[in-house]
Amino acid sequence: MQLKEKNIQRIQPIDCRHFIDGQYVDSTSLKTFDNINPATETVIGKIAEGGKEEINLAVAAAKKALKGPWKDLTTRERSDLLRRIGDGILARKEELAVLEAMDTGKPYELALEMDITRSAHNFYFFSDYLTSLGNESYQQDDKAIHYSIRRPVGVVGMINPWNLPLLLLTWKLAPCLAAGNTAVMKPAEWTPMTATVLAEICQEAGVPDGVVNVVHGFGANSAGSALTEHPDVDAITFTGETTTGTAIMKAAAPTLKKLSYELGGKNPNIIFADSDLDEVIETTLKSSFMNQGEVCLCGSRIYVEQPIYETFLEKFVAKTKELRVGDPFHKETRVGAVISKEHYERVLGYIEIAKAEGGTILTGGGRPDGEEVGYFISPTIITGLDRNSRCVREEIFGPVVTVLPFETEAEVIEQANDTHYGLGTSIWTNDLRRAHRVAHQIEAGIIWVNTWYLRDLRTPFGGMKQSGLGREGGMHSFDFYSEISNITIKL
Ligand code: NAD
Repeated sequence: MQLKEKNIQRIQPIDCRHFIDGQYVDSTSLKTFDNINPATETVIGKIAEGGKEEINLAVAAAKKALKGPWKDLTTRERSDLLRRIGDGILARKEELAVLEAMDTGKPYELALEMDITRSAHNFYFFSDYLTSLGNESYQQDDKAIHYSIRRPVGVVGMINPWNLPLLLLTWKLAPCLAAGNTAVMKPAEWTPMTATVLAEICQEAGVPDGVVNVVHGFGANSAGSALTEHPDVDAITFTGETTTGTAIMKAAAPTLKKLSYELGGKNPNIIFADSDLDEVIETTLKSSFMNQGEVCLCGSRIYVEQPIYETFLEKFVAKTKELRVGDPFHKETRVGAVISKEHYERVLGYIEIAKAEGGTILTGGGRPDGEEVGYFISPTIITGLDRNSRCVREEIFGPVVTVLPFETEAEVIEQANDTHYGLGTSIWTNDLRRAHRVAHQIEAGIIWVNTWYLRDLRTPFGGMKQSGLGREGGMHSFDFYSEISNITIKL
C-alpha cells in the first residue's frame, strides 16, 4: 500500500501511550500490544495496555481537575476552548485521516470527509449550542417561582467502538466538556491512534491537565471494565455491541452510574414502488456499503415492494459491482478492509450461513479478485432468504445486505419491527401520507424518509429496544452530561 498523495506521504503511524493528567505515559507494567493495519495485515505500532492501575490514575486526575481552573471557566471561555479544539482537528485533518484509515482500513477519502471533518464540527456545534443554553423556570400563580440549574455530572467514562473512532469519541467529548465535566476515554483496542492525537489537540487548545484523559486497553478484565466499575466515575457513555452494554450495566449497577448507550442495529430500508428509483439506488449503495457496512445505522435488511423488486435488484447489483474495493489510499476506493481477521472471518461465516439457509448471492460473497492481502470483502447482496434466517435477523456489521420483497404496507411494517433492535430505518416513498403513516409505526429511534444518514446535531440521536438507552444530540446531550437541580422560592 502506498500513500499516493504527496501531502500525506510523510505521515507515519504512531505508537500510542496513555494520556493522564496532561502527560503521555506508559503502563506501569510497561505492557503493550500490537496495532495491526487491517488493509496490510502488518503491525504498525505498539499500544500501551492499560488496566486497573492506569484507570485509577486517570480517574483520580479527572476528579481532581473538576475542582481546578476548569470549574472557573465562564461559558464564553468554555465555548471558545471547544472551538479551538475543532480548529485543532481541522488543522491536522490529513494526519488524522491517514491514522484513521490505517487503524480501521476505511478509505482515506471517507475518513477525511466524514470522520475527521465531522469530528471538528461536533466541537463547533457544542461550542455554539452552549452559548444559547437556557434553563426551565415556572411561576406557580402568586405562590412560588421554580427554576432549574445545571451542574456537571462529574467524571465521565467514555467507551468507544472501532468503526468511527474519532467521530463517535468527539460526539461524546464535546458535550461532556461543554457541560463542564472531565473525561476518561477508553478507545477501542483496534483503533487507538486518533484518540491519542486528540489528547494533544485538547491540551494545545488550552484544556487544563486532568480534564481529558485517555487510557488504552481491552474491554472485559482490562481498562474497559475497570472504568465501568470505578466508584469515582459518575457516568458512562458507551457505544458498541448490545451484549457489551449488558456487561457494562451489570458492572455499573453497584455504584448506580448514569448510563447512555448507543448499541447495535439491524436496520430496515423500506422501499415502496412509487419512490424515485435512481435516488433510492444511489442512497442504498451508501446505506449498505459505506465504511464497509460497519456503521451502526447501515440498512442491512432491504425490503422492496413487489412491482419494482426485479428492477431494483438489477440496478442495485449493477451499481454495487462498480464499487472499487481495496487499498484505502487509492482515490477511487469506495470500500476498504474490515477491521480485523476475526471480524473478516465472522462476516464470511455469515455469507456461508446464508448459502446454507438457501440464499442466493447476487454479487460479492468473498474476497475481491486480485487482493491477496488485507481483510477485504466484496460488497455482497443476498436474496431468497426466509425472514427468520440468521442473516436477516442478526447484525453482521460488514458489507453484506439481504433483500426481501413485500406485498403490503402492513406486512412490511410488521417485518421491519420484528427484531429486538430499534436503531434506524429508511423509508422510501413519494406518498406523503404513507410516509408519515409508516414512520409513526416503525419502532426505531431514527427514521429517515427519502434519505439516509442526514444528521442535524440538534436532533435526538439514539435507539429504542435493545439498540440503546437515552438520546444524545442538542439538549439531549446536555441532559445526560448535566445534573439538574430544581430550586423553588416561595413568594
Ligand atoms: P464492542 O462492544 O465489542 O466494543 C466497544 C468498546 O467496548 C471497546 O472499546 C471495547 O474494548 C469495550 N468493551 C468490550 N467489553 C467491555 C466490558 N466488558 N466492559 C467495558 N468495556 C468493554 O463493540 P465494537 O465491536 O467495537 O463495535 C461494533 C458495535 O458497535 C456494533 O454492534 C455496532 O452496531 C455498535 N455501534 C453502535 C453505534 C450507535 O450509535 N448505536 C455506533 C457505532 C457502533
